[in-house]
Parts: sequence; C-alpha cells; structure tokens
Amino acid sequence: EARNPHEPEFLQAVHEVLESIAPVLDTHPEFVDGGILERIVEPERQIMFRVPWVDDAGRLQVNRGYRIQFSSVLGPYKGGLRFHPSVNLSIIKFLGFEQIFKNALTGQGIGGAKGGSDFDPHGRSDAEIMRFCQSFMSELYRHLGEHTDVPAGDIGVGAREIGYLFGQYRKITNRHESGMFTGKGVQWGGAEVRTEATGYGAVFFVEEMLAVHGETLHGKRVGVSGSGNVAIYAIEKAHQLGATAVTASDSSGYVLDEAGIDVDLLRQIKEVERGRISDYAARRPGAVYVEGERPWRVPVDVAIPSATQNELDGDDARALVANGVRAVAEGANMPSTPEAVEVLQAAGVLFAPGKAANAGGVATSALEMSQNAARQRWNFDDSEAKLRAIMGNVHHAAFTAAEKYGRPGDYVAGANCAGFERVAHAMLAQGVI
Ligand code: NDP
Repeated sequence: EARNPHEPEFLQAVHEVLESIAPVLDTHPEFVDGGILERIVEPERQIMFRVPWVDDAGRLQVNRGYRIQFSSVLGPYKGGLRFHPSVNLSIIKFLGFEQIFKNALTGQGIGGAKGGSDFDPHGRSDAEIMRFCQSFMSELYRHLGEHTDVPAGDIGVGAREIGYLFGQYRKITNRHESGMFTGKGVQWGGAEVRTEATGYGAVFFVEEMLAVHGETLHGKRVGVSGSGNVAIYAIEKAHQLGATAVTASDSSGYVLDEAGIDVDLLRQIKEVERGRISDYAARRPGAVYVEGERPWRVPVDVAIPSATQNELDGDDARALVANGVRAVAEGANMPSTPEAVEVLQAAGVLFAPGKAANAGGVATSALEMSQNAARQRWNFDDSEAKLRAIMGNVHHAAFTAAEKYGRPGDYVAGANCAGFERVAHAMLAQGVI
C-alpha cells in the first residue's frame, strides 16, 4: 500500500485476488519461492502521456492518456481503452490487474492490459472526438502492435472511437495491421458478435450457474444497470432466453419498464442518438424514470450490474436479497463493493465476478485476432456458438477450481484461483523477467 498511495481501486482489486488464492499458494509453495506475488502486482510497463487537442471553439484542451501493460506472460497485452472523466492511474491499474486473470480464464493466449484517458466524450462533436482520438493514438501507436499490445473498447470507446483510433494508427505506421485493435467494424476487419459478446456472455454465464441447480432463465425477471454496450446486449440475450429485463440506467437515474425493456428503442436512443435513459422513459408508454437512483431496489430474480465499478454497495445487496434475488452476474468490472459481495454470498446468492461473467468480450476479441491473422471472417451463428462454448469453459474452470480448493460454489475464489494458477505456472516457466 505504501508503494501505491492514492490508488484505492487498484488496492481493492489486489486484495480481492490475494484473499482468495491462499489455497493455491499452499498447494504450490514454488509460486511463493518464485516471487510470483511480488512480480504480479507490479505492471510490466506503465505509460502515461499528454493528449493535446483543439476543440470546436478553437481552444486548446489537454487530457492525460494511460496504457498499463500489466502482463504479457500468456500473450500480447490485451484490454480495453476507457474514456471517462473519472479515469486515473488507480482505475486503469485495477482494470489492468483484473484483466490478467480474466484473460487467463478464457483459456486463450492473451496477456493483460488496460488504458484510456480522463477525456469526457459526452456532448463532444464527432469532429472533436476524431481530433482527440488522433492525438491519443499519435503517442500510443509506438507501444501497440498485433504481437505487442492489442487494445479494444470500454466505457466511452465504441465503434466510432475505435474507427478513428485505428485509422490514425494505419496512417502513422503505413500498415493495415488488422490485428492491432479489436472491436473494429465488421466491414473492415471486425468480428461478428464482438459488439454483443460481453452482454451475451454475462447472460450465458448466468444460464450456466442456474443450470447447476436445475434452473433456467425462462420466466425470470432481470435487473440490469447501465445502458451502454454491455447492458444493451445483456438485455437482448435475456429476452431471447425467455427472461424479462425490466431496468436500465445511466449516471443520472434508471428506468423501470415492467413490459420488458424495448431493445430497439434503447439502441436507437443510445447508439444512434447518443441520448439519455430519461429519453427512453419519455418515449416508451408505461416506463417509469427514477432520477438520481440506482435500480437495485426493484425486485428481480437476476441482477446484471453493467455500468461501472462500485455501483452496487452493501445496502443495495441487502435490498436485492430481501427481494429474493437468485443470481448476480457482474457485466461491468468490479461493480459490487467488497461488502456487497459478502452480503450476497452469505445469503447464498449465486454470484459471478466480472472476471468470469464478462470475459466473453475479450474472448471474442481473441477470436477477432484469430480471424485477422488468418484473413478469415466467420459468420454470426458460428461465432456465437464459439462464445457460448467459451463461457461454458470459463464457468467450468471457475466452478471446478472452487471445488478443488475447498470453496464449492464460490465463483470469486474459483475464478481467482483458476486464473492465477495458469498465469503463475507460465511466469515460473519463463524465469525471472
Ligand atoms: P459504455 O460506455 O457503452 O456504457 C457505460 C454505461 O455505464 C453508460 O450507461 C454510462 O452512463 C454508465 N456509467 C458509466 N460510468 C458511470 C458512473 N460513474 N456512474 C453511473 N453510471 C455510469 O461502456 P460499456 O458498456 O462498454 O462498459 C460497461 C462496463 O462493462 C465497464 O465496467 C467496463 O469496464 C465493463 N466491460 C466492458 C466490456 C466491453 O466489451 N465493452 C468488456 C468487459 C467489461 P453515462 O452515459 O451516464 O455515463
């Protein structure tokens, strides 16, 4: 902690992992002797840089850019870019740290990284977004490459931003290097199902957890937070599997739609018009908008928090439990506070941490890299079937590791132990580097 002052989110993520992996260390003393812990909490490389750009009024703006290249022991660095005013070193480090274990859990050959900027895209024109992205990439490009570091989207970085970032990389390097970025448009190297993958994957994970107990999603009420990429496609898949998703939100409030969120309308407002969740409530008969609150007091069987870190606290968890929630799967990264996780697990709620439940996004990014390397394009149905299988494997890895290490049913421990074990073996094999 003395080494990383003012980094509460990073310390929270590290504590969560270290608390669960004690049984792995007991079984593998060579991990302790090999200094795995000391090394794994220290990023291989941290890049911070100035991002100057000129707004539409001709004023100079300066933001800060980050790329934390945490671990490349399993493959090229891989992890998204986040553009949000709250971004700081602590948040990017926590996300990069989580990414190592998440990527290991997918079973694919990808390392862990995260990046972004404190730039706020809300209310900016397309031209401003483009100039910002070009300036950001003008510095970052030298650290990227299909065999080095492969970014993707995250909060505030969607198809539009990825297009501008990729275009600038191509211009500067004179290389159409498709595999250096994932989440690209399907017309220019992107993979089918990448857009849907994180949300779909989270719902597939819920299906897996319920199946262990002989239950399905059919007829269940689902509460989702957020209204971005992850939330929209979690809602869509929940509906396809016979559940009803009744909430969505943004940082201003949430909407309750008892008839089930209308995904077409939500996509139109969020992806096309770049509007607010209050606009959805205004245009959808029967929907109710609740300003300034989060959706966790609404009774649901399944909750999928899909907005941001620490958006579901101990009181929210108690409210969910009191209303009989059966399963909670983190679509976002670390949306539940440590207290919330404790409350949910103590009440016997099936709880899936983000590094397992939202791994479908990065797993499909790795499929995009495979397609780029082979100059192939797989169709939607095959790609979705692969995602479905990967989520089954992620569930299996977390579930069996939890049993093996004496914590049956504890997906937090299971995901951490399984991810850590794979990374630690590789680190040991590759020597002190
Ligand atoms: P988007 O930018 O598409 O959407 C983010 C949503 O969360 C918006 O509705 C936004 O509302 C809300 N939100 C963001 N910050 C806050 C905040 N401080 N308080 C309340 N609401 C907030 O991002 P994604 O859907 O891509 O990402 C959502 C989460 O999922 C993140 O934690 C991300 O790390 C995680 N994730 C994403 C993956 C992906 O493939 N996209 C993969 C794995 C994890 P508003 O517009 O008001 O800010």
